Amino acid sequence: MTKYIFVTGGVTSSLGKGIISASLAKLLQARGYRITIQKFDPYINIDPGTLNPYEHGECYVTEDGAETDLDLGHYERFLNVPTSQANNITTGRIYQNVINKEREGAYLGKTVQVVPHITDEIKRNMLILGQGGEFDIVITELGGTVGDIESLPYIESVRQLRWELGSGNSVVIHLTLVPYLAAAGELKTKPTQHSVKMLLEYGIQPDILVCRTEHHISQEIRRKIAQFCNVNINAVVESIDASTIYDVPLLMLKEQLDRTVLSKLKLPLKNDPDLDSWKVFLGRLKNPTNEVEIGLVGKYVELPDAYKSIIESFIHAGAKNECKVNVKYIHSESLSAENVADKLKGLNGVLVAPGFGSRGIDGKINAIKFVRENEIPFFGICLGMQCAVVEFGRNVMGFENAQSTEMDDSTEFPVISMMEEQKKIKNKGGTMRLGSYACELKKGSKAAYFYGKSRINERHRHRYEFNNEFFDRYEKAGMIASGINPENNLVEIIELKNHPFFIGSQFHPELKSTVDNPHPLFVNFVAASINHSKKK
Ligand code: GLN
Repeated sequence: MTKYIFVTGGVTSSLGKGIISASLAKLLQARGYRITIQKFDPYINIDPGTLNPYEHGECYVTEDGAETDLDLGHYERFLNVPTSQANNITTGRIYQNVINKEREGAYLGKTVQVVPHITDEIKRNMLILGQGGEFDIVITELGGTVGDIESLPYIESVRQLRWELGSGNSVVIHLTLVPYLAAAGELKTKPTQHSVKMLLEYGIQPDILVCRTEHHISQEIRRKIAQFCNVNINAVVESIDASTIYDVPLLMLKEQLDRTVLSKLKLPLKNDPDLDSWKVFLGRLKNPTNEVEIGLVGKYVELPDAYKSIIESFIHAGAKNECKVNVKYIHSESLSAENVADKLKGLNGVLVAPGFGSRGIDGKINAIKFVRENEIPFFGICLGMQCAVVEFGRNVMGFENAQSTEMDDSTEFPVISMMEEQKKIKNKGGTMRLGSYACELKKGSKAAYFYGKSRINERHRHRYEFNNEFFDRYEKAGMIASGINPENNLVEIIELKNHPFFIGSQFHPELKSTVDNPHPLFVNFVAASINHSKKK
């Protein structure tokens, strides 16, 4: 029978429930359990696909094409197991399902209410992943903070489910904050006590408290928290600030979080956690022998969460190369033809980020011209690849004012244009070309060499594409299509022959980079940046 772990958050948001959930999952996986994590988000959007990255950070796309919360990226990076639509549910989706059922007549004669209809639908979704026999344990992370009005139906659903599952089959882990008051020189437990009281009001006694803190929590404070919150003293777990999120599984191991959870779930410890490869990764991450400066040119750089998977991919690729990657955020709107040399000075590589709309496009194109001409390694992702095609058209092929039709649909040279299948679509949510598609790599290309194989699958999220009317002219001029979708000939990778590293991908390689499998394009981009730094 599948067992369930619920993770709630108290006191404040941004405590890192996603990292704690992923770290615990990693430890249980390393002990030999089959495990998955799902996230329930209490907002009314059907999914985060329509949210501005400034609101919610990056939108993470799964293999099956779901647009999901960025925490799913952490789950995949830690566990190296793909997630799917079923791993991320929002209040919007729950209500949509219930309202659709109501229209179908599923509740004929009944008043449809939050309890039981919404809570039943939440519980149904909480159990789905556990019912296929694929997983021994399902971790459910509840978004938001206990006490928020919108979280209430989720908390009530957990209360009901725990009763239905019976004792020993679920645990509730409550993540709280133990703040340090510098003036008093003390760690304070009151916020934790209050947030546990609030959970108790809703009928839930948490089994384990994970306490986020900037300072070590003494035995005395652990005892106090345990006594006032009705938990065992070994169920008060310290989660101290870490220098990297990848340390957290080891910190949780030291606190024996995995043992406490397994004993509450009445499950055997199995083997000691096998974390050998994880430790090798950490060793490389923390003992770099090289250092490079890579510029990330984008328009959401004020909020690094907007580029979460890219940043993490650099960490994986850096460790693989034993190289510290310093990412310098560069606002695309700040780059002009005049200042670009100055702004990109000292960089060993430049990544031009994904994005939508015309804001900052000229800056991206200026950056690409500069790195192309100065043989600085370049990596363009999605919109970044599209900008590289536009730049090459304008400045090498003489296509004056070449443009993507996303920015100008009356351009004489529409080198990037909307995909045919997209033209008839009116709705915005979930309608892009999303998820995993096959791609055939061209023999002898750099891309084929980096991947070490001829066929790959990568994840997409876009409406526009390289316009194949220009295909032959680009190839003749030296920009080749090194990756092509075998079904419909869409260009998925472009590269330049006479450049140390100039690659653009229409897909998002950052969504598939994990600790165990750093992405080959990132690994080789960092390697090329190291070469660049040595030449200088
Ligand atoms: N705006 C571009 C498109 O829709 C690129 C999308 C992206 O960078 N994810 O095709």
